[in-house]
Amino acid sequence: MGRPRVLVGEFKHETNSFCSSRTGIPQFRARSLKVGDEIVPFFRGVRVELGGIIAGCEEEDLEMIPSVAANAMPGGLVTREAMEFVKGEMLKAIANAGSVDGILLSLHGAMVLEDAPDGEGELLSALREAVGPNVPIMATLDHHANITPAMLEKATCLFAYDTYPHVDQYDRGYEAAKTMARVLRGEIKPVMRGKRIPILAPFLQTAKAPMKDFIDAAHRWEEDCRVVSVSILAGFPWADIPDCGCSVIAITDGDEELAQKIVDSMADTIWARREECALELTPLEEAVRRAIAAPKGPVILADVADNPGGGGSGDTIYVLRELIRQGAKNVGLAIIWDPEVVEKAAQAGVRSRIKVRLGGKMEPLFPDSIEIEATVRTIADGIFVNKGPMGRGLRNDVGRLVALDADGIEILVPERRIQPWDPEIFRRVGIEPTEKQILVVKSSLHFRAAYGPFASEIIEVDAPGITAINFHQFNFKNVARPIFPLDTF
Ligand SMILES: [Zn+2]
Repeated sequence: MGRPRVLVGEFKHETNSFCSSRTGIPQFRARSLKVGDEIVPFFRGVRVELGGIIAGCEEEDLEMIPSVAANAMPGGLVTREAMEFVKGEMLKAIANAGSVDGILLSLHGAMVLEDAPDGEGELLSALREAVGPNVPIMATLDHHANITPAMLEKATCLFAYDTYPHVDQYDRGYEAAKTMARVLRGEIKPVMRGKRIPILAPFLQTAKAPMKDFIDAAHRWEEDCRVVSVSILAGFPWADIPDCGCSVIAITDGDEELAQKIVDSMADTIWARREECALELTPLEEAVRRAIAAPKGPVILADVADNPGGGGSGDTIYVLRELIRQGAKNVGLAIIWDPEVVEKAAQAGVRSRIKVRLGGKMEPLFPDSIEIEATVRTIADGIFVNKGPMGRGLRNDVGRLVALDADGIEILVPERRIQPWDPEIFRRVGIEPTEKQILVVKSSLHFRAAYGPFASEIIEVDAPGITAINFHQFNFKNVARPIFPLDTF
């Protein structure tokens, strides 16, 4: 028998079903869409899931059949066209190969389609149909995946990140590939069980209780040699689908009873501590006042409610407006997504003074914009490579990237939306982030991995936005009720 042949692919999207926009093929293309032979050279050595999958396959001498790798910025419902394209590419790669011995995927796990609630369930069902019941299908998942019955039924093994900020994407991909090799050699026969916990969780660091305790407990289970993997998923709360919520997945070597016991006990533990999952944010006016008065910078103001990494438009101006109102100086702000202003700045040129209406153009629910007069300081190509612990080595391309200086507040305006979790975005336009008094980042938590070590203080700001954590203000229609904290228990 020749080398085992394994289909490799990626289809990642975190869908915020409250966003007004749609996520189609152009949005996948704008972030990352690679097909066939482009995939392995692009991801080899990069600290993301596919980097780990490739390393594991090469180490285990599995022949990779690269299909498609599509990843879009979190945002609105994914179009039917995008799903059919990606699914079609994967099915075509299987058909062209004649047969495959396994499937290794990098998924997010919180994809909602414009006409169906369970993107990953649909994809996994189609692949299962194509390869039959005996071919192992394994996938990595984001810690913010919402687990559905179809995902648990159609996949053989699912491995979620253990970290938020997500610094173990590569390790989970590697783990999936190594597990695939063990299964193909007949060393283990995995069985998987999952359980939903009816909690809408805001962004909870895995370095702090309660989430740290849950992950630690999962790791203790993994010390048992019968256990292959235990995942704790916080879920993605802005996806209004029936299965939205926290969950637990346990995979054992052939021991269904043990897998069930693990998910039952973990679910009980998490449910009992649900009250600890709530977070308190700092009111905007107070946050800015404290940041200005801080004896030492940089103070990070995290604009958690407009996080492009959760579907935020990246163009709300509430924090900027308050900074101007209070006369803040020596500020770096990433980002206000506004291609129109990029174009105006580019036409005016570096050093020119421009008057623009900034922000509030992308999400009809948050339409406030701000008139500013600013100097065009830098116009860059918007290409930078992550140097922080998260996704190190990954190349970002935000289109043209402009730095506007509004009298001491330097605003990064990219042509494409991004969650600025790596400070290299500032350096790309010649701003040294460590020297600022205040840094504003539109990010809920990922920024902590790279900004945390040099921040004098981090303040999570309570401002309006589509990733706000007061879940009562969203009009949930589909999520299975009752659920904490929308309902009382
Ligand atoms: Zn996530």
